[in-house]
Amino acid sequence: MNGPQLGLKIDPMFECFSKSKPVGYLSPEQDYPRGEVSEDAVDRLVDLAKHPLVAWCGSHDCELDPCGSGQFQPELKYRGLVVPTWCSTDIFVPGESALYVVPALILHYILCHKYAPPSYFLDAVIACPKAASKEYFAALKRFAPTASTGGADTQFFEIIRDTEGNVIPVCKEP
Ligand SMILES: [Zn+2]
Repeated sequence: MNGPQLGLKIDPMFECFSKSKPVGYLSPEQDYPRGEVSEDAVDRLVDLAKHPLVAWCGSHDCELDPCGSGQFQPELKYRGLVVPTWCSTDIFVPGESALYVVPALILHYILCHKYAPPSYFLDAVIACPKAASKEYFAALKRFAPTASTGGADTQFFEIIRDTEGNVIPVCKEP
C-alpha cells in the first residue's frame, strides 16, 4: 500500500457511497461550461463548504488559467468571506438519484472562472437541506454505506456514526 496521496483517497470515496457522482473537478486540459449561477445556489454551497464532512490529507489548487500560471491573483471575497484558490475538502450534495461529490473549490470556479455546473446539480443544491442539519444527514444517509458495504473501504475511511446514528465516512489520519 502506498502512502497517503490525494488521488488514492478520492476513488474509494466514490465507491464508498452508492450512486455517487463527481461534479466540478475542473482541469486546464478540459474546457467547461460558463454562465451565471444564482446567489441562492452559491449561498447554499458556501454553507456546505463551511461544514465539511471529510478533509483530505492533501490539498487541491486551482490549475485553471490564470491561477495555474503562478502569477499573483487578487483575493476574491464573497459576502465578506475569502474564497480560497485551493481546497482540501469536498462537498456532498444529496440529489434525487445520486449523491454529488464536489470539491469545495467549486466556489472559486463559479465566482472566479464563471463555471456553470450542470442544472441537475444546481437543482439538487437548491433543494439541499441546511448543512449539518438533521435533514441533511437524513438525505445523505440514503447514499451512505451500510456496515456490510463499508468494510471494503475502511483502509481509507473510518465509518463513524453521528448523534442520530447516521453513518458518516471520515478520512483516516495519515
Ligand atoms: Zn482559479
